[in-house]
Amino acid sequence: MVISGQPVRDAKRSFTLLLMRDALKELLAATGPLIDLAIEEDIGSGDVTSQAILDANTEGIGCIASKSAGVVAGLPIAEAVFHRVDPSARFVRHVDDGQEVVPGEVIAEATGPVRSLLSAERMVLNFLQRLSGIATLTRCFVDAVATTNTRILDTRKTVPGYRILDKYAVRMGGGHNHRMSLSDMILIKDNHIEAAERFTTAVERARKRHPGLPIEVEVRNLIQLEEALRVSPPLTRILLDNMDLETMHKAVLVAGGRVPLEASGNVTLENVAAIAQTGVDFISVGALTHSTPALDLSMTLCRGRSQQRRRDLHARIKEAKKILGKGLVILGHHYQRDEVIAHADFRGDSLELARSACETDAEFIVFCGVRFMAEVAAILAKPGQHVLIPDDAAGCYLADTAHIDTVRAAWDQLTAAFGDAYDEVMPIVYVNSSAALKAFAGKHGGVVCTSGNAEKILRWALTQRPRVFFLPDQHLGRNAAERLGFASREIHLWDLGQPPDPTAITQAKVILWPGACSVHRRFYPEHVQTVRAKRPGIRVLVHPECSAAVVDLADAIGSTSQIIEQVDAAKAGTTWAIGTEFRFVKRLQSKYLEQTILPLADPAPVCRTMSQITLENLASTLELLAQANLRDEITVDAETARWAKVAIEGMLAL
Ligand code: SF4
Repeated sequence: MVISGQPVRDAKRSFTLLLMRDALKELLAATGPLIDLAIEEDIGSGDVTSQAILDANTEGIGCIASKSAGVVAGLPIAEAVFHRVDPSARFVRHVDDGQEVVPGEVIAEATGPVRSLLSAERMVLNFLQRLSGIATLTRCFVDAVATTNTRILDTRKTVPGYRILDKYAVRMGGGHNHRMSLSDMILIKDNHIEAAERFTTAVERARKRHPGLPIEVEVRNLIQLEEALRVSPPLTRILLDNMDLETMHKAVLVAGGRVPLEASGNVTLENVAAIAQTGVDFISVGALTHSTPALDLSMTLCRGRSQQRRRDLHARIKEAKKILGKGLVILGHHYQRDEVIAHADFRGDSLELARSACETDAEFIVFCGVRFMAEVAAILAKPGQHVLIPDDAAGCYLADTAHIDTVRAAWDQLTAAFGDAYDEVMPIVYVNSSAALKAFAGKHGGVVCTSGNAEKILRWALTQRPRVFFLPDQHLGRNAAERLGFASREIHLWDLGQPPDPTAITQAKVILWPGACSVHRRFYPEHVQTVRAKRPGIRVLVHPECSAAVVDLADAIGSTSQIIEQVDAAKAGTTWAIGTEFRFVKRLQSKYLEQTILPLADPAPVCRTMSQITLENLASTLELLAQANLRDEITVDAETARWAKVAIEGMLAL
């Protein structure tokens, strides 16, 4: 069986997140006194139960697992607690901070005297559950605004003494930190202005006393906003306090990008997307740290059961593969878990994988990826081939931003504007989309594109019709359009909340659907600036689903295949910061030991839905298959498949 790319060698050196060292040092320094306090209050003069019942020499393994889906944060603290309680305890992480886990997933194991493990258990879980809860809630807010340019900020509403820990957890969730304390930024609120009597007096006094500090001013209405915008030199940021959506939208228009705006007050998961749609730059959310539910974690003594369970699952998968023989092909997307991709016959990008599998004579294709990838394989499958996915709920954030009904409604608006949209606009649909959207492109004379050929397809499309409707990834579309030399007035971002502006869409050559990938959206320009400052000479290589602001600062862009090609062709000793999914970057480092390869961001984003494919559900899918049970089959109805194939083959013919 051919495996795409080079075989993955065993990593001979550990994958060190060099960029995280400073943050880690700060975290552990802040945690030290809290661990002392926790030991004093929880163990007191001794853990009488464990000491009475357990022999001091009995060794064991404590498995820490998540009972629900969430984002992990605080593993370095967990390790520090075990070591403080018993320096002989050994700690192994199965995931990294910032990574999403599924229910039942073992996130770490501690080995050592059972007495010590049980004495440390509650403290470890208290730290981990709180921090993971904050990271999980933050990720929900971050994902809710991922199609916009808005960033989620924390506040000072943290547990006293936990400021550094709570804010670390916010970063692990993908959020950003507001000021750490009253000393590192000037934030002039209502009460300050009232005490100073005049707004300008407050600003002047603050500036005079602390000329080097950033300065933010709170405003409650558009009159105060105008006044704040008149301040010269401009303020660092303006805080829109408790404004309704309409006023906020007006505020964004009035500010016109002169000063970044932050929305604050009564922000919930229900309204955060609507607030972000107004165009504000930041949204601060007190709930991230003051009302966060803990992530449900537990520690059980597993006496090696966790490793045995993994070994059993690997054995079950191998056995099922043996039974199915040449009738089975397993596909592993580049972003898949290590333990799952280890069983793949082919590794690669979605379309490349689907095409490779469909060229084989295998009757069953098991796709360890996300749903749209399995749909592509089902569309391209030969008669008699069946495509399965171990978890049919493994969707894609980006694909889900373009529901076919919403797209059809937008097309109707384009038809109303142009008389006949078919003659005026060509739909180009990125392969990371539903089968229905691909079929929509096929029916309307459009084609599919990939992250590797978006520019070429866009160039071709514009020789066929006056303009392109690019769906669903706004960033891939914008990056391709900018590389083709289009000016910003020729690139129009579709606004789902407003009727289309006839002048803007008439002027546009490229109309972008406002979708985005929740993974690539988490790379920011400051990540590029930070790696360059820390490691001069580093080459920054990013995926084209990253925002144009990131792409503009990078040395190069590339799809996953193109990233591999560039690293492969580089001289030994080259240092890279790569802006794409973490597991793929980590495996690149394992493969190219002669290069230094770092993730661009800290924490490096992981695709949550890809993580839904586990050894457990892969084993279950294969075992059912071995019994001729097609429970996990993905099917696409004939009409949708026919038109989607037209769009895919249209691209392949170019
Ligand atoms: S990385 Fe982004 S585009 Fe790819 S499957 Fe995950 S959410 Fe979808």
